[in-house]
Amino acid sequence: MSGFDTTEHPHRRFNALKGEWVLVSPHRSKRPWQGQQEAPEGEQRPAYDPSCYLCPGNTRANGEINPAYDSTFVFTNDFAALQEQVPVGGVNEGGLLRAEAESGVCRVICFSPRHDLTLPEMTTPAIRQVVDLWVDEFRTLGARPDINYVQIFENKGQMMGCSNPHPHGQIWAQRTVPMEPAKESTEQLAYFQQHQRTLLADYLAIELEKQERIVIENAHFVVLVPFWAVWPFETLLIARRPVQDITQLTDEEREALADIIRRLTIRYDNLFQISFPYSAGLHQRPTDGEDHPEWHLHMHFYPPLLRSATVRKFMVGYEMLGDPQRDITPEFSAGRLRDMSEVHYKQVQ
Ligand code: ZN
Repeated sequence: MSGFDTTEHPHRRFNALKGEWVLVSPHRSKRPWQGQQEAPEGEQRPAYDPSCYLCPGNTRANGEINPAYDSTFVFTNDFAALQEQVPVGGVNEGGLLRAEAESGVCRVICFSPRHDLTLPEMTTPAIRQVVDLWVDEFRTLGARPDINYVQIFENKGQMMGCSNPHPHGQIWAQRTVPMEPAKESTEQLAYFQQHQRTLLADYLAIELEKQERIVIENAHFVVLVPFWAVWPFETLLIARRPVQDITQLTDEEREALADIIRRLTIRYDNLFQISFPYSAGLHQRPTDGEDHPEWHLHMHFYPPLLRSATVRKFMVGYEMLGDPQRDITPEFSAGRLRDMSEVHYKQVQ
C-alpha cells in the first residue's frame, strides 16, 4: 500500500503542546454525516431566579448576600476545593507513598446578573467586562507569594456536571502548577530553548499557511481545531502576539478576545441548536515570579458532544488503557464549525 492519507488511514498524531499522542481513525467515520438535529432544549430560564445562589440579591449557603451587581461579580467559593490555611507537611514512604500539603483559593465569577444568558448570548461589551475581571483576578492572585499558578475556567452545561445554569466561571489559584499546564510548560520550554520562538507562534504560522483547521480569526486572535485535537469539536484559541498572560494584552486585544469568544461560542451553539456544553479555560504562565518567555497565552475549549445534542464522546476502553482516540478528523470538525453562522439560532426566526 502506498500514499499515506490522513483522511483515509488510521494514524497517530503528536500533541506538540503536551508531548502526548492521539489515535485518529478517519475510516470509521466514512458513513455519511447524520446531520440530524435534536429538538432544541425547551428549557426557558427566567432572567432572575429567586432560588439561584448566583443571582443578584440572593443569599448563598453560607448566609452571605450577593450584591445587586449589574455586570460581573466575583467571590471566594463557599465550598472550595482548595483552602488558604493548610499546615505545611507531607508523606513520603520509600518514594512510593507520596503526598504533600496543597493550598490555594477558589473564586467564582458571575458573567452576568441575567440568569437566562450564556456567553454567546451576551454582547461583546458585556463579555469584555468578564475579560477585564479575569485580568484583575490573574494580576491580584498571581502576585501572591503563596500562589504559583492561576487557572481560569468555565464548566458549561449539565453534561459537564455544572450544577447551576447561571452564567459563571471559576478561578482556582494554588501553590503548585497542575499537571496539564505543567506538561505544556515542559514542551514550550524545550521548544523555546531550541528555537528562541514560542512553540505556539510557530504552530500558528503553519496553521495560517495551511488553512485546513482554522475556524475564525480577528486582528489579534485565531481559533482553530488543533492538529492533535482529542475531543470531536475541541478548539484552541491562540493570541497572535506571543504574550505570556492576559495582563499583557492591550486594550484593543482585550476587546478582540471578547469578540472572538462571542463568535466562537455562537458557532458552538448553532452546531446542534442547543446551549453547547464544554469545559474551557485559559492557559498562561505560572505566577512563580519568573518571566516564562516560552509561554504563549491560549485558551482551550473541550466540548463533549460528538454527532448531535444527545450523542457524546466517552473516554473509555482503549482510551483509559492506551491513548485517546477520535473518528472524525480535526479537519472535518473545523469545516463544520467554519460553516456555522455567527447569528445565534435563538435570534433567527
Ligand atoms: Zn494549554
